[in-house]
Amino acid sequence: MSDWTHRHVLDLAAFSLEDYTTVLELAQRFRVMPTSGARKLPALQGRLVTTLFFEPSTRTRSSFELAAKRLSADVQSFSPSSSSLSKGESLLDTVRTYVAMGADLLVVRHRCTAVPAALARDLEASGDRVAVLNGGDGLHSHPSQGLLDLFTLARHFAPEAPSPEALRGRRIVIVGDIVHSRVARSNLWALTACGADVVLCAPATLLPQAFAQFVDAPPPGQASDPVARRGAVIVERDLDRALAGADAVMTFRLQKERMHQHLLTSLESYHRAYGLTHARLERCGSAVPVLHPGPVNRGVEMSGALLDDLRCSLVEEQVTNGIAVRMALLYLLAAG
Ligand code: ASP
Repeated sequence: MSDWTHRHVLDLAAFSLEDYTTVLELAQRFRVMPTSGARKLPALQGRLVTTLFFEPSTRTRSSFELAAKRLSADVQSFSPSSSSLSKGESLLDTVRTYVAMGADLLVVRHRCTAVPAALARDLEASGDRVAVLNGGDGLHSHPSQGLLDLFTLARHFAPEAPSPEALRGRRIVIVGDIVHSRVARSNLWALTACGADVVLCAPATLLPQAFAQFVDAPPPGQASDPVARRGAVIVERDLDRALAGADAVMTFRLQKERMHQHLLTSLESYHRAYGLTHARLERCGSAVPVLHPGPVNRGVEMSGALLDDLRCSLVEEQVTNGIAVRMALLYLLAAG
């Protein structure tokens, strides 16, 4: 396993090919190893993992907490509604309280972009050793989801030895509400780093043309791209054309909570143009695997029948793989 240099995990734009290899290798070890019940691993015994989710979550939070428990860490979770935030305490003071209780690793989700990065910076500046893992910030980034999607695809293409190499030259279609999706952004960094070509597909209101240049330069504040050569990013408005020759397709939820204006004429017309169904996939002549990070709007971004069809739907597999990937991240950040 190569050297791991990240003190925090905030954005996959900072990941090199070696970082992806490290996470995938470790996740695969945890994935195939029985780690529940009495077979928990002692790797994080005596460490405290604190989850601070300032925005709702079903999968990510419970997956991180289970991953921490499987590594024998202590787990503490913060819930904003019953906290002193409602009495006017600042976010940083709330977080410092948990650090003072001995947290070794904070998993932070916030509806505003860059909150986990700002916390990491402030805590470092005051000499705290705690690691920060971004559990999803605004539209910006959801690194653990991007990594578990990558792991799921790599395992699909190379079940015994999933690695970035399994993605090289693949055509991966991402369809849906891309402009509001932090998961799409994390997937763009991850998939292109591994040499996959990504075809983005949505109407212009959900996918500005500028996304074709998304990975051309590192994000503000990052001096250089750690990946020498990335796969291509292509914008295609027509779903049938996008799906032709695809190796896998990911679809994302319409994020109504982030839409500040009407961006679609109706859900029915959106489903007709961009919804995934068996018929649509068959028309493209491909039995491609389908991924969705959840939560799913059945009958909007994909049909309920396709979601439930385990021959092509990898959605449950993504949930299962998410635990192994999060174990890998917690281990890399907190075991040393
Ligand atoms: N669960 C993912 C997220 O937190 C995707 C979604 O909410 O649609 O970004």
